[in-house]
Amino acid sequence: MIKVGIFGASGRVGQLIIQEAKAHRNIEIGAVFVRKELDFSLPEGSFVTNDFNAFIQCCDVIIDFSSKEATNALLQALESSSSPVPCVIGTTGLDEQDFALIDSCSKRVPMLYASNMSLGIAVLRQVVEQVAAKLTQADIEISEIHHRYKKDAPSGTALSLAESCAKGRNRPLKEILVTDRISQGARKDGELSIISLRGGDVAGRHCVGFYLDGEYLELTHNATNRLTFAKGALACAIWLANKPPKLYEIDEVFA
Ligand code: NAD
Repeated sequence: MIKVGIFGASGRVGQLIIQEAKAHRNIEIGAVFVRKELDFSLPEGSFVTNDFNAFIQCCDVIIDFSSKEATNALLQALESSSSPVPCVIGTTGLDEQDFALIDSCSKRVPMLYASNMSLGIAVLRQVVEQVAAKLTQADIEISEIHHRYKKDAPSGTALSLAESCAKGRNRPLKEILVTDRISQGARKDGELSIISLRGGDVAGRHCVGFYLDGEYLELTHNATNRLTFAKGALACAIWLANKPPKLYEIDEVFA
């Protein structure tokens, strides 16, 4: 049995991870981190805490779906821990400092960061890289829509799809990315833009469009249920638990 620690447990994804973990035969809920009082039910004997060290000590692997600030605090606790544990991070909206911390933790324990835990997006990233390389003349535009509560924009998934397209074009993403068309004027050659919509209860829709004269290709992924992310995260946690220290990518899990 693998003891999983759940960080961001009361959230939309966190709750589904708990639901899936309860039913999983190879997983036990080792510890649950809660900020305030516990306002949901857990299997009897589950360890609940708001103490980072106690949380880390009670699990074999952590799954984090929280917020930028919370992930940063968790990473700092892992970095200063005398016995850190592997960690799967699904929180989006992280910055360079957070990624530097993930990198630093990965020198001592296996770490995995994925802005999207679904198999479909992992495949889509590979496909759009190839299409971007083949359709060299196509204008690439990415659109994404998420529920009204999502905090970060563009979504981490849209950015990772953009990263794959930029790789296919052999260009640094920073040089070609446009996330705000206002005051940009007409589209420039080689530009790659992302447009973000927020509304309703949409779990996540990403469309990568390749627009040519006379034809266009649009590749769309729809997440119809957040359970996809919870199942993907648990699959990553099981896979990661006994790996050597390194920063892993989700493609390696689904390979
Ligand atoms: P949510 O707002 O429903 O839940 C956030 C959770 O984090 C809550 O339990 C909250 O209590 C906790 N939290 C927030 N700030 C905290 C703090 N400072 N200290 C401790 N705990 C704190 O959000 P959600 O929809 O479950 O999404 C969580 C994150 O996961 C977001 O960044 C979202 O973009 C991302 N996400 C990633 C994927 C993926 O596949 N990687 C899929 C969906 C969502």
